[in-house]
Amino acid sequence: MKDAKAPAESETQKAKLVLSLRSGGVADPAVLNAIERTPRDLFVPDLFQERSWEETALPIACGQTISQPLIVGLMTQALSLDSRSRVLEIGTGSGYQTAVLARIARLVYSVERYRTLLGDAEDRFRKLGLLNVITRFADGFEGWPEQAPFDRILVTAAAPETPKALLAQLKPNGVLVAPVGRGPVQILKRYVGDGHSGYSVEELGDVRFVPLLPGVAREL
Ligand code: SAH
Repeated sequence: MKDAKAPAESETQKAKLVLSLRSGGVADPAVLNAIERTPRDLFVPDLFQERSWEETALPIACGQTISQPLIVGLMTQALSLDSRSRVLEIGTGSGYQTAVLARIARLVYSVERYRTLLGDAEDRFRKLGLLNVITRFADGFEGWPEQAPFDRILVTAAAPETPKALLAQLKPNGVLVAPVGRGPVQILKRYVGDGHSGYSVEELGDVRFVPLLPGVAREL
């Protein structure tokens, strides 16, 4: 059985995490609050429980990773969410980023190509009572055409180039945030719709994500 941390200990770890998010540039109170209310230990494998609240990415099943809290904070902030937003997320992974989005947005549609990861993430959403997350086992390169257009789109795996198919599923004034690049280090980009069919692009800095892979995984 998993040992529950003494409340005081996890409170201290949480406070430390919030301080590091602030000094890393996360200023939006809604984002800080959402991260504070999302128990990262629930999303981290047993082997790494001790490190749940550390400011670091950690391995999860299927050779994937749960993102570093600061990156989750900066990406969530870059989306400029509000309580009316319908968000599409590509790459559910552990579901940690999804849960943070779901604390702020109205609805989160999340797509994952590994069945195992998706099943585990769905269990966590149920446990946390997050009823505004809708998941799909599919290839996220294609987005979720039946539910488009979206106010916001977040890609949590590296896109090899501008994700055109996803931009096409964004509302005219929407925001899409994605790591873009083919190497081990990518550039985090923020695309903002111009109200017609174009968009502007802003570069937010270097990040390291696992790549977006085509198709659904055949292994579990
Ligand atoms: N946001 C996650 C981290 C995800 S790691 C978290 O907080 O835990 C990136 C995820 O994207 C992995 O789970 C990977 O399987 C998934 N992924 C990669 N390519 C994909 C694709 N084409 N469609 C859907 N998911 C994809």
